[in-house]
Amino acid sequence: MNYDVTVIGGGPAGLAAAIAANKENASVLLVEREARLGGILKQCIHDGFGLVTFGEKLTGPEYCERYIDELLQTDVSVKLLTFVTRIEKNADGFAIHFVNREGAAHVQTRAIVLATGCRERTAKQVFIHGTRPSGVFTAGTAQYYVNLMGELPVKRCVILGSGDIGLIMARRLTMEGAEVIGVYEAKPEPSGLPRNLYQCLDDFGIPLHLSHTVTRVFGDERLTAVEIAQVDKNMRPIANTEKIIECDGLILSVGLIPENELAESIDVAIDRRTKGPICDQKYMTMEKGVFCAGNALHVNDLVDYVTLSAVEAGRNSAYLTNKPRALVHVVAEEGILYTVPSVLDVNEPVSDVTLYFRASRELRNAMLTLRVDGRAVFQKKYSVLRPPEMERLKLNFAQYGITTDSEVSLSLKEVE
Ligand SMILES: Cc1cc2nc3c(=O)[nH]c(=O)nc-3n(C[C@H](O)[C@H](O)[C@H](O)COP(=O)(O)OP(=O)(O)OC[C@H]3O[C@@H](n4cnc5c(N)ncnc54)[C@H](O)[C@@H]3O)c2cc1C
Repeated sequence: MNYDVTVIGGGPAGLAAAIAANKENASVLLVEREARLGGILKQCIHDGFGLVTFGEKLTGPEYCERYIDELLQTDVSVKLLTFVTRIEKNADGFAIHFVNREGAAHVQTRAIVLATGCRERTAKQVFIHGTRPSGVFTAGTAQYYVNLMGELPVKRCVILGSGDIGLIMARRLTMEGAEVIGVYEAKPEPSGLPRNLYQCLDDFGIPLHLSHTVTRVFGDERLTAVEIAQVDKNMRPIANTEKIIECDGLILSVGLIPENELAESIDVAIDRRTKGPICDQKYMTMEKGVFCAGNALHVNDLVDYVTLSAVEAGRNSAYLTNKPRALVHVVAEEGILYTVPSVLDVNEPVSDVTLYFRASRELRNAMLTLRVDGRAVFQKKYSVLRPPEMERLKLNFAQYGITTDSEVSLSLKEVE
């Protein structure tokens, strides 16, 4: 029960990390709480996955099947229906405590890859007033009912939030015969990817109402109606704009949050912007030996990027050394919402760093500037940048002579 690497979570990130660590000859354990591998992709039966990694348009199950098939060719140990409850630091690394049908047990591991994914924000987190009838679902739960259980949970519904899962469910519910009255988004711009706005709403004639929110729900046993209202620029409902819409379903697509209770339990430092662990270019968190990948690290827009980052995390987890780290922060300045990694370990190679970033607002003709000690060392122009779309940059930081005393920052500014 001793492993070099234990991967927690058997979604696309966990699968890729386990395969990559195994390729480096590490002994690997993969722990998954559900009965099947594949994570959330099991229920994402629409296509669009794999364009970057395979140059093909795959469905979620097809995409993860490729990695499951590859994993099954390896000697990675897999524990299904096993829930990791606790991690404990000790002299030899970490004890991973879990429960399954055989009871409670633990394994010892030198390194961990956290690949626990993310979860959806609920009605409680968006402050909707009124009763608590049935008929209020997160988009992921509705997706689970329709795609995995073959049940239609609503007949006439309103979707709150224009995140990608909400848009995809607007189309899915329509195709299954439900009436989707509209998608209501509190922000003045949509949250989802443009391709989902066209393919899921425009193609099916589903209206998108920006600067609107659901303020109240009605119904005793079952939802009977919702109240919607226009909101001002501070997202506060505007008086006398309220409208009652009769419906039996409210689908929430109001954001995803990385699932990091396990990381926090061993004091892994969390980035307040990504809500995932702070990590360096090797995907190692601020806790030595603890790596993180996929949506547990930050919410990715494409599963392909989840896989690419998890391969790196898995590979690096196989080569844990006692070398001290020398960390330099990449400061997110004007126009940048966040970067991943947000820290560089200059005691490790920095010549081939993949930097992911998001713009903090929609920007046109924007100049990205990387500064080292106040000097602009790299610039790139973007015609349009939107927060829902994650950007990826390959950077050779070695050529800028970065040391532990360097100040590294990234900014975005609109130019003529
Ligand atoms: C409802 C929903 C729908 C989505 N739809 C799309 C989509 O259509 N297109 C798209 O590109 N992206 C979609 N995403 C984003 C999608 O999550 C990612 O693209 C990708 O699945 C992330 O991979 P992951 O491995 O990081 O996380 P996940 O796929 O979420 O896998 C995490 C795994 O960790 C396991 N786990 C968590 N905690 C523990 C624990 N303590 N012990 C053991 N196992 C644990 C979970 O059971 C799960 O299997 C969706 C996300 C959600 C939440």
